[in-house]
Amino acid sequence: MKNNKIWLSSPHMGGTELNYINSAFENNWIAPLGPNVVGFENSIQQYLNKDKFIAALSSGTAALHLSLLMLGVNRDDFVICQSMTFSASANPIKYAGAQPIFTDSEPQTWNMCPVALEKAINYSIDQGRKAKAVICVHLYGMPAKLDEIKAVCKKYEVPLIEDAAEALGSTYKDQKCGTFGDYGVLSFNGNKIITTSGGGALICPSEEAQKKVVFYATQARDNAPHYQHSEIGYNYRLSNISAGIGRGQMEVLDQHIALRRQMNAFYQGLFKDIDGITVFKEPNSDYFSNHWLSAILVDSTKTKNQINREDLRLAFEEENIESRPLWKPMHLQPVFKDALYFGGTVAEDLFKDGLCLPSGSNLTDEDRERIAQVIQKLFK
Ligand SMILES: *Cc1c(COP(=O)(O)O)cnc(C)c1O
Repeated sequence: MKNNKIWLSSPHMGGTELNYINSAFENNWIAPLGPNVVGFENSIQQYLNKDKFIAALSSGTAALHLSLLMLGVNRDDFVICQSMTFSASANPIKYAGAQPIFTDSEPQTWNMCPVALEKAINYSIDQGRKAKAVICVHLYGMPAKLDEIKAVCKKYEVPLIEDAAEALGSTYKDQKCGTFGDYGVLSFNGNKIITTSGGGALICPSEEAQKKVVFYATQARDNAPHYQHSEIGYNYRLSNISAGIGRGQMEVLDQHIALRRQMNAFYQGLFKDIDGITVFKEPNSDYFSNHWLSAILVDSTKTKNQINREDLRLAFEEENIESRPLWKPMHLQPVFKDALYFGGTVAEDLFKDGLCLPSGSNLTDEDRERIAQVIQKLFK
């Protein structure tokens, strides 16, 4: 019999999720509103420990879309976005009819390069249409160079959206990711560090903004006894059942971060003496990553027998272990082939040599042993 599949990142329940779901059933709150939605928002707000207000939504993608709406992004506006990311960071720019300008990454955090960002902003100013927003991402849980990015945004007065979909619990200089920008985006998709099966949240700068986001997320209903609408609305609110899962997951979030970080430490140890392979880690102690996914770079000019990224991926696949190349940069995607891009080849090179490895908080000693055996077989 073949061994069980080892996944990159799979759902990991804490145990109390069903209690919250049961109480929703008992009280017939089977709807996109109710006590679990409010309870979940409150526990996220408390966790972030900052003067922010949370709107629980149906996905991280919906949260990004509404953040653009809140910042007044309209048809043909420019929005600057990190190229090296998952497509959901960029797609909402197109939903809004706006035009993305992609930027390269810098090699330390793999996130938005502040120099490329400034070039992109200057380009937009030269076009007479200063960018309406910047979307930076904390890829794989690694905080971006927030001081530098914030300084550029401030200099040109362009609002910042942090895509913290992969970075709940990560911190930069002891402040939680998602609380630095004008808006912050969280995701609770099935593969994220905590999950509500599907779901997301928008971290908002004021209670007024949060109320407006919820208004847009619930079909933009005016205050009237009949259905009346002065604006276009969306159906983006989180279900009270899903929010129940989220409340249970918040209770184990820090525990799951510790386990993900242990997986990263496991890989640091595993690859310590293997030439040509480096495990992605924080550049210095200002950065604390939740290590949602652990990733490596494979320099095949330095590895034994010139083993490359693809050789590794296939060796894992052979043993029913999932691994995946890093996110393919957006400016290299067919769907964005005509988009503007600023920077060099950092993101492109990372994509060429990078591999994400199984990183779940639910991996066992036996799983780690199977992973280690693949590496030992290849390199010994
Ligand atoms: C998962 C993810 C999203 C989208 O979140 P969903 O909840 O799946 O819509 C956005 N950005 C990044 C970087 C992600 O990893």
